[in-house]
Amino acid sequence: MSVYLYQIALSCVPKPQILAINTITVNALLSALFDVFNEEKIKCNIIIKLPPGELWRKDLTPYQKVFSPEIIDLSNNLDQEYFYREYFILFLSNQICGLILVNRHQVKYNFEKKPILPTIFSFEKQTVATILLSIETVLSGLNMPSYQLINKWNKEILKRFKVADPLILNKLLNKQIQRLQKMRKYETNERILNAKIRMLERQNQTLIKEIDFKSELIKNTAQELRIPLTNMKTALGLLESTNLKMAQRQKYLHLLNNQCDRQTSLINGIVELMKLDEDLEKNKLHPVNLADIVPGVVSTYQSLAQEKEIMIGYTIPENLPLVNCLENWVKQIVINLLSNGIKFTPVGGRVLVKGKLQGEYILLEFQDTGIGIVSQELPKIFDRFYHGKPGIGEEVPGCGLGLTIVQQILIRCGGTISVNSKVGSGSIFKVLLPIYKG
Ligand code: ADP
Repeated sequence: MSVYLYQIALSCVPKPQILAINTITVNALLSALFDVFNEEKIKCNIIIKLPPGELWRKDLTPYQKVFSPEIIDLSNNLDQEYFYREYFILFLSNQICGLILVNRHQVKYNFEKKPILPTIFSFEKQTVATILLSIETVLSGLNMPSYQLINKWNKEILKRFKVADPLILNKLLNKQIQRLQKMRKYETNERILNAKIRMLERQNQTLIKEIDFKSELIKNTAQELRIPLTNMKTALGLLESTNLKMAQRQKYLHLLNNQCDRQTSLINGIVELMKLDEDLEKNKLHPVNLADIVPGVVSTYQSLAQEKEIMIGYTIPENLPLVNCLENWVKQIVINLLSNGIKFTPVGGRVLVKGKLQGEYILLEFQDTGIGIVSQELPKIFDRFYHGKPGIGEEVPGCGLGLTIVQQILIRCGGTISVNSKVGSGSIFKVLLPIYKG
């Protein structure tokens, strides 16, 4: 038959109060108790059932050495059905009798996933006597000789005992407060440590992602670099043939030239991409004024735009708040999106860059009247090495890294990018850059 002391204690009159406390507090109560026993030189007879681990005996062992009290230790030698998942210390002396009883059956967990244990801490003679009797009954039923010892303690101590000495109770209260304060400090340190561990785990995750990103990039890069090289080799092979007409020769030379450009832009793009973290190690994010960057970049593209008879322009209000980024990153974003606008806009079109405040961000819009993007392709355009087929006959230069670089910059400075596009009408790329908060 199972015996649960906790249930038995709850049926006592007056009903003992239940404390819902964590193991650290239980430990503090136990330590406070032994502090008082030591200071007041109280030799108690003790019955204990403690969880495994030295931590629970750190106060009992030295007390035992000094006072050699009579102890019945039930920690290891009981069947599971007796006091299963219950831990207790029952102490009897002429000055104080009491009980700490912890119930691990009804454990609840707090927000930190730490167990909260229903615990009874009582100095009521009635409760102590009831529990003592229950233990005695179990031990005598099991024929364990220690029940006779309990019987003796009952007669010699508990029966004669009236109430606990108030001075000792007062001392106990003070000790408990001191012990709890010590434990709190320990808990706070533990909490700080846990927060640090969680932060390190997050950093670890980011590092793993970065490593994955880089190794994937290297793999993709090797594949991508092979394409222009193969094309160049083919063109060179064809150029070697003796009976080549002038037009064909021009065509292959043109192909060679294009593939060299592609190779160069591939290498430049990869270097840019790899440099992002290095940039962030060298410089912290800091306030950047869009008005110092956008006009300069637009003007460098003026002649290219004129060649294609494309009108380019910008509006950046004077009093626009500063963004939290790096100058070269903002410049890179503007270059990549503006050059795409010009690249994918046919003769006679328009490309505009506009900046405005939007909540906590600056919205930088790149609007063109270009060829637009087919809706099925939209989710792919930020993938690295994605290079759309423009469908206007001629191959458009680029290596499919421009938007990837923009996106990676924005991830690092807390911004975002989105796009609206309509085939034949044009595209709007919207970049949100966080405002510098000081
Ligand atoms: P690249 O321009 O070097 O190919 P990007 O990463 O900059 O690489 O762009 C990826 C693809 O997204 C382009 O090949 C193109 O298909 C599409 N794209 C980007 N910007 C525009 C735009 N303004 N108009 C139409 N298509 C665009």
